[in-house]
Amino acid sequence: MASKGEDQFKKIISHCKEYGFIYPSSEIYDGLSAVYDYGPNGAELKNNIKDYWWKSMVQHHENIVGLDAAIFMHPTVWKASGHLEAFNDPLIDNKDSKKRYRADILIEDYIAKLEDKIQKEVEKAAKRFGEKFDEKMFRETNPRVMANREKIESINSRFVKAMEEERLDDVKALIEELGIACPVSGSKNWTEVRQFNLMFNTKMGSLSDGANEVYLRPETAQGIFVNYLNVQKTSRMKLPFGIAQVGKAFRNEIVARQFIFRMREFEQMEMQYFVTPGQEKEWFEYWKKERMRWHLAMGIPEKFFRVHEHEKLAHYANAAVDIEFWFPFGLKELEGVHSRTDFDLGAHQKFSGKKLQYFDPETNKSYVPYVVETSIGLDRMFLAILSYAYNEEKLEDGSERVVMNIPPALAPVKVAVLPLLKKDGLPEKAREIFDRLKYDFNCHYEEKDAIGRRYRRQDAIGTPYCITIDHDTLKDNSVTIRERDSMEQDRIPIEKISAVVAERIDIRPKK
Ligand code: ATP
Repeated sequence: MASKGEDQFKKIISHCKEYGFIYPSSEIYDGLSAVYDYGPNGAELKNNIKDYWWKSMVQHHENIVGLDAAIFMHPTVWKASGHLEAFNDPLIDNKDSKKRYRADILIEDYIAKLEDKIQKEVEKAAKRFGEKFDEKMFRETNPRVMANREKIESINSRFVKAMEEERLDDVKALIEELGIACPVSGSKNWTEVRQFNLMFNTKMGSLSDGANEVYLRPETAQGIFVNYLNVQKTSRMKLPFGIAQVGKAFRNEIVARQFIFRMREFEQMEMQYFVTPGQEKEWFEYWKKERMRWHLAMGIPEKFFRVHEHEKLAHYANAAVDIEFWFPFGLKELEGVHSRTDFDLGAHQKFSGKKLQYFDPETNKSYVPYVVETSIGLDRMFLAILSYAYNEEKLEDGSERVVMNIPPALAPVKVAVLPLLKKDGLPEKAREIFDRLKYDFNCHYEEKDAIGRRYRRQDAIGTPYCITIDHDTLKDNSVTIRERDSMEQDRIPIEKISAVVAERIDIRPKK
């Protein structure tokens, strides 16, 4: 699966603005770097993604409950979680372009190029050998693939070791040895690598009475950890159980140039699943599969995703995967599934001096549960959907259209109600239909312009169904329903519109 390219990415960004999905923040003041506002269609799409996630977590799992914790938390939370000490990114500046980069991302991008080379070899060989092609064997035996694989592994292990040992000089040496150049100036004239803490801070209370330094949370998870006993007790939960939350998080990202992929203010959808120690690997496998099922249930093909197992784990994790997505600018992390052991609860127990143990009624023992978490960026999911959905099509009649193939269940507008003409009683009939349908779906009513142009406008925002009211409607109470992707049209009775649309946009697993 090749990336659709930077050109495609630019088109998506301008389409987002033109059609009311996303605007730069404070645009009349020339924007604010890596901060964005969601327009009318964007707000709908974002709410639908959130809703789809929330329902599949909270409503479909008897043992998962929701939480809405505050953004501000006691400052000691961030000491316990390690964010004050270690939530750093290694940054490096290019002396010629004065551009700032994350050292780890420069290295990651270099590795991605090697991965690309491997992929090209595989694709070439697949073409050459046709049906007989054994990809696994090829990857394990082809000398060029093997050499690149070895190179990737050695870069990875050197980088991880340097970071673990806080040898930032070696990270710089690695960048120099690999000959990595600044994409802007093309020069290899780098500064030293420095650590940069990503948390935003502010003051709580008036300065005169000794204001406290507080932080804007860099992840939602800690709100769940510190509330775990409250929730467990008040909801009478037994292990295993989960707590789900959607909320804002803030990171003072160094490199913030990829639209809503990396923002300074963003939203996360996180779920922490509390399990008996020893059972975490099983649940980790469960959530890995379950999260992929969630992604695929929307109808985005599997080739857009890759499950990437972490070879080197964070010190608190005993298993971790990234669910990656082919964004127009390459394969990048969309979601993380992590087995975090008792690291977080253990740390909060230590720093707060409060017991955070679970009393297991079956064994009569108390212990700190282990945690398996799933963590996905809502905005990144939004971008993944747009990246998949934005398509330019050449039609049979030679014309072109831009269509957003947004999974129908998530589309901002589900149905557009369109009278064919602005006369002969058609608008009145159409309004009648609209006024009924609006209780079931988010609908648009539109009577301006020729029908073809109205269809195009709905295609461009991803409306899956258009209902057209014509003269026959007045005679036999039937309408035309046009499907966005195939552009096929059917005739259906007015009283069936709601049921037909509901069935077609249903995302439930088919029996
Ligand atoms: P990255 O390596 O891309 O910085 P991360 O590994 O730091 O991400 P996590 O801390 O695991 O990310 O956060 C979980 C999820 O939150 C990510 O998978 C991503 O979808 C989302 N996320 C993290 N940082 C941002 C950001 N700055 N803007 C938008 N989404 C983000």
